[in-house]
Amino acid sequence: MLDKRQFYINGVWVDPAHSNDHEVIDPATEDACAVISLGAQADTDAAVAAAKAALPGWMATSPEDRIAALERVYAAYKTRTEDLAKAISTEMGAPIALASTSQVGAGLSHLKNFIAAAKAFEWEKPLNDDTPDTLIRHEAVGVCALITPWNWPMNQVTLKVGAALVAGNTMVLKPSEESPLDAMIFAEIMDAADLPPGVFNLVNGDGAGVGSQLSSHPDVDMVSFTGSTRAGIAISKAAAESLKRVHLELGGKGANLVFADADEKAVKRGVLHMMNNSGQSCNAPSRMMVEASRYDAAVEEAAATANKVQVGPPSEDGRHIGPVVNATQWSKIQDLIQKGIDEGARLVAGGTGRPDGLNKGFYVRPTVFADVTNDMTIAREEIFGPVLSIMKFETEEEAVAVANDTPYGLTNYVQSTDVDRRHRLARQLRSGMVEMNGQSRGAGAPFGGMKASGNGREGGSWGIHDFVEVKAVSGWASE
Ligand code: NAD
Repeated sequence: MLDKRQFYINGVWVDPAHSNDHEVIDPATEDACAVISLGAQADTDAAVAAAKAALPGWMATSPEDRIAALERVYAAYKTRTEDLAKAISTEMGAPIALASTSQVGAGLSHLKNFIAAAKAFEWEKPLNDDTPDTLIRHEAVGVCALITPWNWPMNQVTLKVGAALVAGNTMVLKPSEESPLDAMIFAEIMDAADLPPGVFNLVNGDGAGVGSQLSSHPDVDMVSFTGSTRAGIAISKAAAESLKRVHLELGGKGANLVFADADEKAVKRGVLHMMNNSGQSCNAPSRMMVEASRYDAAVEEAAATANKVQVGPPSEDGRHIGPVVNATQWSKIQDLIQKGIDEGARLVAGGTGRPDGLNKGFYVRPTVFADVTNDMTIAREEIFGPVLSIMKFETEEEAVAVANDTPYGLTNYVQSTDVDRRHRLARQLRSGMVEMNGQSRGAGAPFGGMKASGNGREGGSWGIHDFVEVKAVSGWASE
């Protein structure tokens, strides 16, 4: 079994202050694949102290020097993509093809986009052309705690580290205890990039331990968190005492509005998007809402599509889906599927239990419910598994009202060939992102939500903005 008990603090790998072993479970076999340490207050304090000591030097560097550092990180990342993909696939169950392309690939493109955004970023500029005496400076927030989840682990780590680093912050990363292995490879990448000691630190731990210690630490200036709404609330409360800046990327319950005039691939595209990464994406289009005249055909097509989704081991090549991350998630998903049945939704594909032929591993059957109403538990709660809810609507107004009737506001989706309608809906949907007709966002576009989905915007120049303070200096040009 892999021994990954050390932490990366002040530029070196160190033993934990106290031994507190935690086994990382491979969700495909249910066996331990590695052992890490869960940190204690002394480890958190050591990492924060290293970041604090490194801050004055790092924030005084020029943007050009920091961009050069990020370029070294990008180059080092490129040399470790295979290792990263294997680690992600083993620890959280993404099939190796998905891990290599989407999971690891996302990290690569975020780093590249931050390099481009940082080059174009106006770190210092006059307030206006005719007011050169007032200078606006963008500078580091300070010591940042970066707390990340397991579902798209390298995506989240790079979105936070890339932006924080190039903006001149120093940091302590606490990856999810479910998926620490890829983050530890990432620490090796940071080490290879030859940064000053203390700029980047990694401490493993759980939410109750290192997560809470970082969120309440007096020497941490900002917490950037991605994960559940539950933990986001706990972190906000812990951070309030010392008035830290808190940046949150939380859960979602995206609506996918399929109008009668949608293109012919719209339903299939929505089902496959839902099933991708075994449904473990905060931006999954989990509520498919279909216009009445197309409803019956859509339900039939969605069921047929889900029935064709293969489920299998992450180590096998192919476009199947893997297990969900752990036993807790597996049980939670089973309970929610049962709740859907009990509350009267019509099960048209999948259901409870493991898929045929898979008796071990946290595998879930790709599941589709029809005749879901928005008050049902499966329409309100984030399931975080391969489970799609289909609802019927009669009018555009009703569709918008139901789509917005959720505590969440991360991504909504619109499928329609009517451009005027699409523009109307893009303005009316209450979410940080609206994706139309399967067109993905351009490179460097912001990712983030509103309402219970959080308040941050990650990626590109918006991601850098989240990690800077704005300073107004007067008397700049005066004699
Ligand atoms: P989680 O909230 O349980 O854990 C996320 C991280 O927070 C982990 O590192 C965990 O150790 C830590 N943590 C947990 N409780 C904490 C606490 N009280 N204080 C400090 N840290 C704490 O979430 P998860 O199960 O790992 O991830 C799934 C969730 O993440 C889903 O709700 C999903 O929607 C959300 N997510 C959101 C986005 C986004 O950008 N909006 C992206 C990916 C995942």
